[in-house]
Amino acid sequence: MKCSRRIALLNVVGAIAAVAGCATRPLTRMTAAVTSPLARLMRGNARFVRGKMAHADVDAARRTELVSGQHPFAVIVACSDSRSSPAIIFDQGLGQLFVVRVAGEVVDDTAAESVQYAVEHLHVHLVMVLGHDDCGAVKAALNPSAANAELAAIIKQMQPAIKEADAESPPNRLNRAINLNAKLQAQKLARLPALEKRVRSGELKIVAARYKLATGQVQLLPDNLL
Ligand SMILES: [Zn+2]
Repeated sequence: MKCSRRIALLNVVGAIAAVAGCATRPLTRMTAAVTSPLARLMRGNARFVRGKMAHADVDAARRTELVSGQHPFAVIVACSDSRSSPAIIFDQGLGQLFVVRVAGEVVDDTAAESVQYAVEHLHVHLVMVLGHDDCGAVKAALNPSAANAELAAIIKQMQPAIKEADAESPPNRLNRAINLNAKLQAQKLARLPALEKRVRSGELKIVAARYKLATGQVQLLPDNLL
């Protein structure tokens, strides 16, 4: 089967494995053209979980290719936690992810503006807000004290999630607060007028997810979480 015909087939069935052998380009670059941004992210995460990372697009040639501009395929709003680095856990190279990082993945004005820039000027069609296990910022928001006073502005941005989680018994409180926080930060983005119209038209997808520290898996959070 010719390469072009094979790729056309992939558009229909979404099969990825058959791409191998079509060209000398790395597999992740070939599949990029035929998969949705979300599928591309999750496949990269699956490679990371299996320990079969492609490490594609991290070489000098890719660097040169990007000098003239960037065309990332997803925005990730992630916690600053050193254990949840998006490019690594999604196995993506240079120029593929537009990343906004702040403790607790809070969407304040500057984070919101960064996301809007990527959507409006870089034409990104997927935004993922990514929480994670054992988040220190969420823990601080659940138990604010003088010891974490430096996080005051971040904790303030988390209050809606903390209030919702307060109804839970202590063993579930942190778990629920982590999920609710990611979900509510994603909702903040979805309510921005410039993004809301794109979500409604189907041009933009905004999802919330959670990174599992022990397994490396990224799991999408359900719509009915709230
Ligand atoms: Zn965190």
